[in-house]
Amino acid sequence: MLLRMIRRGEIKIENEYARAVRYEGNVEAQKLINKFFEVIDAKWRALGIIPKSGLELREEYKDLEIRTHHNVKVPELPDLEKGCLCGAILRGLALPPQCPHFGKTCTPRNPVGPCMVSYEGTCHIFYKYGALF
Ligand code: SF4
Repeated sequence: MLLRMIRRGEIKIENEYARAVRYEGNVEAQKLINKFFEVIDAKWRALGIIPKSGLELREEYKDLEIRTHHNVKVPELPDLEKGCLCGAILRGLALPPQCPHFGKTCTPRNPVGPCMVSYEGTCHIFYKYGALF
């Protein structure tokens, strides 16, 4: 599909999984999610609060909330290290080498920010394969 688009000079998004993925999505799953959860404004590390980006159990199902059930306290996410550009990187506004920590104080063995922690983090990938770009 990509080669066909390149040959035709087209730039678009196509669904390669039309056999299984419908435009309206999995309606049954959506019904269940809507039954048990409500949409909330959620806080995302490095990005702040994004309106309507999270789900929370509806009031009538709060007794199913595992954190309440076992009295688990979830700590607030720590602030990013000073100078960490994860927020800008996640939004496509900066590249990892622009961060003053990149490859110096922040490496996969000693990550400073969330973009370096996981294998699929942008900084982690850039650290390992950045020379290829
Ligand atoms: S290199 Fe480290 S500190 Fe810099 S943006 Fe990436 S994760 Fe954050």
